[in-house]
Amino acid sequence: MPFNLRKRTPLSYYEPDEPKFDEYLYCEECSDFVYDYCAIHGPLLVVPDNKVPAKTGFPAYVPRAALTIPNVFLHIAPSIIPG
Ligand SMILES: [Zn+2]
Repeated sequence: MPFNLRKRTPLSYYEPDEPKFDEYLYCEECSDFVYDYCAIHGPLLVVPDNKVPAKTGFPAYVPRAALTIPNVFLHIAPSIIPG
């Protein structure tokens, strides 16, 4: 029986898991779902909330969202989603 004495590098194969639906991002420029980042438009732009202490001096009727929203280009508006 012939032997092959050539040195071989061991390989291991694995099947990567299919990402779950909520792991996809939606690129509005491409109107398509992408995983991790859009190859054309780059990574997701994450705008963190403003840091606000748990107890503020504002009255209770001032919503916390109004205090934490990054006021660069965002604003609070009524939702168009029913309910
Ligand atoms: Zn894109």
